[in-house]
Amino acid sequence: MRYEVVIFGGGATGTAAFRDLSMRGFSVALIEKRTIASGTTSSSHQNLLGGMRYVLKDPVVAQECAEENEIISDIASEVVGDVRNYFVGVTSEYTISALQAAKKLHIQAKEVDIDEVFKEIPELNRDLNVAVETADKNINAQRFCWLNCYSAKQNGGSLFENQELRSIHEIEQEFVISASLGKLKTNYIINATGPWVNTVASNVDATIPLTYSQGTIIVQKALCSRGIQHLREPADADAYIVHNGYGWLGTTSTTIQRPEDAHPEPWADTYLKNEIARILPNVKLRPTLRMFTGVRALADGEHGTVELGRHDPDGRLKSRDFKVIEDPSNVFHIIGGKLTTARLMAEKIADAVCQKAHCNVRCRTSKESLNAD
Ligand SMILES: Cc1cc2nc3c(=O)[nH]c(=O)nc-3n(C[C@H](O)[C@H](O)[C@H](O)COP(=O)(O)OP(=O)(O)OC[C@H]3O[C@@H](n4cnc5c(N)ncnc54)[C@H](O)[C@@H]3O)c2cc1C
Repeated sequence: MRYEVVIFGGGATGTAAFRDLSMRGFSVALIEKRTIASGTTSSSHQNLLGGMRYVLKDPVVAQECAEENEIISDIASEVVGDVRNYFVGVTSEYTISALQAAKKLHIQAKEVDIDEVFKEIPELNRDLNVAVETADKNINAQRFCWLNCYSAKQNGGSLFENQELRSIHEIEQEFVISASLGKLKTNYIINATGPWVNTVASNVDATIPLTYSQGTIIVQKALCSRGIQHLREPADADAYIVHNGYGWLGTTSTTIQRPEDAHPEPWADTYLKNEIARILPNVKLRPTLRMFTGVRALADGEHGTVELGRHDPDGRLKSRDFKVIEDPSNVFHIIGGKLTTARLMAEKIADAVCQKAHCNVRCRTSKESLNAD
């Protein structure tokens, strides 16, 4: 079997790249170790971020999220909720600055009358006095990945799930991949395996410097039908996201040594409830139905090899959240980022492959519908 591009990893990033490159006319195979969306993508909060959270901390990420929120809401409306989140807080230097920054960056943040919000959500803490409606909405991340795969397959892509990678060898300027299904040959490899990036990278003698940060989420019956987020300096435990009548409280942020070490912290249940109780006091009274943990792969420092996909004249890359690393030549690793920006990340990595392959076909994923009908 021969493909121009082989992608490892069937999460939001890998499936979005699968779609993008198939639409640009490449012959592409996606290899997933388990099943589609079985990694971080499914263990995230599944909130399509509107950018409000990052207006002060990282305005570039805030704008990327805002733009991608609009694109994904438009092209994948059937997997995106239509109820926007409120950000709630108390008047402070932070809330004032955040609202000013949102305005300057054109991030959707409509101030609403707190008394109207109390009427809509009686469960809210009455000490709050600021409420802002943002573009943040819930997204069904698994279905987003399925739709990407469906679209890729419609454009000729080949999907292989439950595949064990055995080895990668470079022979006469092409890669020979050995996996459970047999041997595949390819010109380009994309490694979109999220926190497992180094398990694939080690097969091509590369090491991607990473920090692993685990985040725990707990699930209980919802107190309201809207997502509520704490408008304060970005911190742990500031989001209550509502999915189909269930409130998802999260997250923690704990550094671990390896993705395999991830497990809900014993203190997380009490901690998350106490923190979210600052905006919704009655979360403390609700039993926890489920608790799960996902792992963020955060890019560490600079990498010695070529970094593509980002214009970075002033070295701000470190403060940004995704990174494309080519090491060795024609093997592209992508790390960091958000579920919200997966389409954009895929566009950047597909552009990098196009540049190498002298292909001028432009990305169409921001315009063409992903909906199944
Ligand atoms: C707790 C938490 C909450 C989050 N909340 C949000 C949020 O609300 N909104 C948001 O925008 N972002 C959020 N994020 C970030 C977001 O989840 C991730 O950025 C995104 O899901 C990463 O997707 P991915 O495809 O890069 O990785 P993954 O989803 O982890 O996909 C990697 C895939 O690679 C596969 N794989 C591993 N090894 C191999 C191999 N050897 N061969 C083939 N396949 C392999 C895995 O099985 C997996 O399916 C959150 C992250 C965490 C941890």
